[in-house]
Amino acid sequence: MSEPHAVFPEPRPVVGRLPKYAAGKPPAPVPGLTPYKLSSNENPLEPLPQVLQAVREFEDINRYPDPLSSRLRAALAEQLDVSAEDIVTGGGSLGALIQVLSAYAGTNDDGVPDEVVYPWRSFEAYPIVVDQAGARSVQVPLTFDGRHDLEAMAAAVSQNTSIVILCTPNNPTGPVLRTAEVEAFIQKVPQDVLIVIDEAYLEFVRVEDAVDGIAMYRKYPNVLALRTFSKAHGLANLRVGYTVARPEITQHLRATAVPFAVSTVAELAAVASVQHQADVEIRVKDLVAERERIVAALTEQGWTLPESQGNFVWLALGERAGEFAAAAEARAITVRAFAGEGVRVSVGETEGNDRFIELAGEWIRS
Ligand SMILES: *Cc1c(COP(=O)(O)O)cnc(C)c1O
Repeated sequence: MSEPHAVFPEPRPVVGRLPKYAAGKPPAPVPGLTPYKLSSNENPLEPLPQVLQAVREFEDINRYPDPLSSRLRAALAEQLDVSAEDIVTGGGSLGALIQVLSAYAGTNDDGVPDEVVYPWRSFEAYPIVVDQAGARSVQVPLTFDGRHDLEAMAAAVSQNTSIVILCTPNNPTGPVLRTAEVEAFIQKVPQDVLIVIDEAYLEFVRVEDAVDGIAMYRKYPNVLALRTFSKAHGLANLRVGYTVARPEITQHLRATAVPFAVSTVAELAAVASVQHQADVEIRVKDLVAERERIVAALTEQGWTLPESQGNFVWLALGERAGEFAAAAEARAITVRAFAGEGVRVSVGETEGNDRFIELAGEWIRS
């Protein structure tokens, strides 16, 4: 119990200024309707049987994990044809990104903060983790159709910029970056700026000339690819992500890594998923087909959607975003509303998707 006039230690001033992360909520129950959570871009499918088996068989909970995730890095090194030295794991790709920021962006000894340039609207965790690191966010508005404005982003790079983040496909709008435009961008940015390519939805991409972060890392020493097991692999709860970059970079990421961030049970589940990549891809194919079905239905209804290459679609509803989210909630589906901008709706179970399509149809007619 706190006393009436107690004085409490004050956190760093930045803590009070951090935007709040609004995690997707499960829907409130509506009688007669099965609820569906379409607000967190989760994979609606249960894990592969081999993943579940790996989790069930693990017993050494009393032992610390391997801090280097050696087994997972070996599996990924083989799959991606990269050196295990170039891979650093983290607690989700968000954990991995925090490691990158700890090493490359903050406030310098002269009191000047580094700048981190990223598109906006994009992944809502970016401003939180950038500000928390003591760096300064430089947000570059998307184009009208939800794409990165790479020219404006290149122009926003200053002497203080230490990192640029590209998000492809962009969460929450959906478009993917093309190889040629990314290469042109990389060539404009000074080589001492680290370019992070966040590819959380890579597996869902069906565009021929989409950029591949690993290909960029092979070609350009200042590129780092950021990937996750949370979306296509369906392991969001286990928190496994990783970065791929040159050893001159990864040595610093290991220095700032959160100790033991990836538990052994999470590591083994991820290894099982990598070993059964073909099965993961079959499920991804089904989710992509479901995405295409939703996009086709909404287009038929008269909606204009940005290119959708993740496991979600974006409705640019502007001021009516909250209203749409409430209408969805009344039908026991939760979507993610960004006030004044739009709603992001994840590709979920077929019945939930059908209910969303129905709502979208009624909305546009009214
Ligand atoms: C979901 C997501 C992530 C990361 O999720 P983790 O669960 O931390 O791996 C990273 N970037 C983007 C753009 C995302 O949408």
